[in-house]
Amino acid sequence: MLNTALKILEVIESHGYKAYLVGGFVRDYLLNLDTNDIDINTSATPKELKEIFPDSVIPKDDYGAVVVLRKNIRFEITTFRKEIAYKDNRRPIQIMYIDNLYQDLLRRDFTINAICMDKDGEIVDFLNGREDLEQHTIKTIGNSDEKFSEDALRILRAVRFATTLDFDLTEEIECAIKRNKKLLKLLSYERKREELDKIFTSKNAKKGISLLIRLNLDCELDLLSLNEVKYTDSLMAIWAILNVTDLYPFTSNEKELIQSIQEVYQFDNMNRTILYKYGLYVSSVVEEMRGQSTKEITELYNSLPIHDRKDIMVTGDDIMKALNRPEGSYLKKIFDDIEQEILYNRLENRKENILLYCTEHYKS
Ligand code: ATP
Ligand code: MG
Repeated sequence: MLNTALKILEVIESHGYKAYLVGGFVRDYLLNLDTNDIDINTSATPKELKEIFPDSVIPKDDYGAVVVLRKNIRFEITTFRKEIAYKDNRRPIQIMYIDNLYQDLLRRDFTINAICMDKDGEIVDFLNGREDLEQHTIKTIGNSDEKFSEDALRILRAVRFATTLDFDLTEEIECAIKRNKKLLKLLSYERKREELDKIFTSKNAKKGISLLIRLNLDCELDLLSLNEVKYTDSLMAIWAILNVTDLYPFTSNEKELIQSIQEVYQFDNMNRTILYKYGLYVSSVVEEMRGQSTKEITELYNSLPIHDRKDIMVTGDDIMKALNRPEGSYLKKIFDDIEQEILYNRLENRKENILLYCTEHYKS
């Protein structure tokens, strides 16, 4: 991965520009952690990068980055820039390309995210990010109040890195977060969710959630049930407790899962009707939320005679024939009935048994 990245730097530099690895990749590399994407910053403009890498693409939320794919790794290449104007405490609305690495580093959020690596693999660290990395400290580049008021997402990024890296926030950052927390209201729920998901899916989620509560960010984020969160491997279990599908964006599948978890969580005890209706996954998530082992319900689920209505060994046609009746709404009622009988082992799931039951109970 590193060799592929250094090769890209070499290609850009062979055209007379400067280029460095920067941000998450260098940070995680020094911490011995895996990264997916690699950020590069360069003096080449997007137009010049397009000429160097004809197969590169410009992402649809065009903010002057060029994306190059090599060996399944996504390289996001941005031109050295100064951010001139910010709108509503979120994202710059005006940027200026510059020819200076140091200036580009100053516009970034935290010192640990401003460490660079050159094409020879040498670390270039103008802002002493490495020292903070070694001390496990998250420090803003320059004044924290200014950083957070330029882009309030940095508040959540600070909490996110404190969580995923298990680092500490400086006193200055903590105070500035408390002073600027109201600005979170101005961010889109979509951007907030991206950061929150990274906090919630971290192995260290407990620390992240305590930090959000301690810094009083729960109200600002509309997450009033944050202190009731239960820790499981399911991200949607956390969102189910937070109960904010009317505010935060979720896909229809996520919404469905959240709703099922909320419904099952309301029942006091697990039983075969719930297991059958909601399935093993949702039931297991809820058991874990309650701090229970999933062994018992897994055994019960596996012992169920049917797991879906499709498993019932008769069709509507079979029943119509047996009862000598045309199609009608009565069929649904019969299926509801035999489904329960089979589920509770009062009726065997065999065609002749079911049809005999139907003729005994439903023949007019
Ligand atoms: P990861 O990719 O692991 O989420 P990252 O630090 O690489 O973490 P990216 O969103 O990929 O985060 O951003 C790349 C770099 O761009 C960051 O390391 C940081 O230097 C800078 N950056 C990203 N978002 C901001 C921001 N909101 N304000 C200032 N600088 C930022
Ligand atoms: Mg990154």
